[in-house]
Amino acid sequence: MNKQNIKNLSIKEISIIIEGLGEKRHRKTQLLKWLYQKRVKSFYDMTNIPLALREKFQKQFSISTLLPTEKTTFSEDGSRKIVLKCEDNLLIETVLMEFEKHQTICISSQIGCALGCTFCRTGKNGFLRDLRCDEILNQIIFFKDNYIPPRKRYNIVFMGMGEPFLNTDNLFRAIEILNHLDAFALREKRITVSTIGFPDKIIEAAESDLKFGLAVSLNATTDRIRKKIMPASKNINDTLFAAQKFAELKETRTTLEYVLLKDINDSDEDALRLAKLTSGRPFKINLIPFNAWDSCNFSRPGEDRINRFIELLLPRAPAVTVRRSRGEDIGAACGQLSYQKREITDKP
Ligand code: SAH
Ligand code: SF4
Repeated sequence: MNKQNIKNLSIKEISIIIEGLGEKRHRKTQLLKWLYQKRVKSFYDMTNIPLALREKFQKQFSISTLLPTEKTTFSEDGSRKIVLKCEDNLLIETVLMEFEKHQTICISSQIGCALGCTFCRTGKNGFLRDLRCDEILNQIIFFKDNYIPPRKRYNIVFMGMGEPFLNTDNLFRAIEILNHLDAFALREKRITVSTIGFPDKIIEAAESDLKFGLAVSLNATTDRIRKKIMPASKNINDTLFAAQKFAELKETRTTLEYVLLKDINDSDEDALRLAKLTSGRPFKINLIPFNAWDSCNFSRPGEDRINRFIELLLPRAPAVTVRRSRGEDIGAACGQLSYQKREITDKP
């Protein structure tokens, strides 16, 4: 019998299994804590669960992990790109960023991305597959096991490889576990999901009980330019309508990411249009000066242009911040991640 991968189960599915085994409810709490707080790799280590039950779990389920590779690279700014290996030998690129009071981990939702935004290296390389719920969670578990000291504050951003809203089945399962108090206990301010913005999916997330912050990659102020650089994007009005709805239902603000591309979306008119699109609405604007990668056809606007853009935007739009990406020197900044097509075998 093929064992079921326990980290792919939702909270409800775990409850049903515990009930089916005739066990009391607190076993669910114990199991979640062992899996996601103590992060054990074997059911036998779950010492407050009776041995007979541990054996039943062991027969029925497996506990997956992601393996590290030797491909960790360090940036001058203290961030690290860490490459993890899945069971099928495909590689997931993740980034750990160090800040004064917290750490941020940038994780992936897919291997590659099918959406082909022209400024994004992940998009250029195409798509291999969705990550499963356990593979999403195991990225965070890997960081907790190896890099995040106990009780240190950390945030998770789904800004690595892939489009999270094209993998919502696994994404939403993972976020439910991330939110759950017996598991990771991470609330909305600690998790951000970045998407190019599928309005239906945004509304579905807004109406759910899931707790996370939303970032929508707007990246243009006209549908013509947006479609040109993000061929899979939906129109701006519908996207912003959904982004606003999310903010209203979750009583927060939605972040709008805007990658500044020289001579494409960085003009005075763009700044004024962006202000008009966002003024008086529950948004925060996050400007991201473009990060270059090999053979890309775009460049970053000069500092003067970026400053002028901010100057025009700031008094007219909701909160504006500029993201100075981390890890640019090691290909770990926003939009620089990609999967390696070749499988690698690491020496033990
Ligand atoms: N697919 C999702 C999440 C991954 S991309 C999305 O597109 O939102 C995370 C962020 O990086 C997005 O805002 C995207 O617009 C931005 N990005 C992509 N390529 C970039 C690049 N070369 N320089 C700067 N930001 C980039
Ligand atoms: Fe995919 Fe996001 Fe890159 Fe577009 S920007 S290709 S949606 S990862």
